[in-house]
Amino acid sequence: MSFDLRELYQEVILDHNRRPRNRGEVLEPTGAAEGHNPLCGDNVKITLRTSGGKVSDIAFDGSGCAISTASASLMTEAVKGMTVEDAERLFREFQQMVTSDAQVSDLPELGSLNALAGVREHPVRIKCATLPWHTLHAALCQKEATVSTE
Ligand code: ZN
Repeated sequence: MSFDLRELYQEVILDHNRRPRNRGEVLEPTGAAEGHNPLCGDNVKITLRTSGGKVSDIAFDGSGCAISTASASLMTEAVKGMTVEDAERLFREFQQMVTSDAQVSDLPELGSLNALAGVREHPVRIKCATLPWHTLHAALCQKEATVSTE
């Protein structure tokens, strides 16, 4: 484990990497997307089901480094049960947290996602942390496209 990684390995990240939540696939998903981060070799697949404008079920699969795995696990926990709009807003806030100097306290909704705030000190890790969120966004857009054609 390199030094910069060790700094990032907080309790929450370690825990979610060891015991990822919502790992697997949602049966009969209404949205799905795959994401790749060639810089690190992270691959993530998101499957989700929406009903009544809410993310009723979501799961992730794939292989990646500890940061991408923990981020995917935390992300699925955070957005499960949220409205699609809130999930998209959280995506933007998360991105803001890991890429800007915004104080964590300015973004109270992020909760346990704050564990990943440290990646902004390590630019090469930012893509690992945001990959699951970009993939979520793609999966949600796909769902909307499906709905509009029905
Ligand atoms: Zn990675």
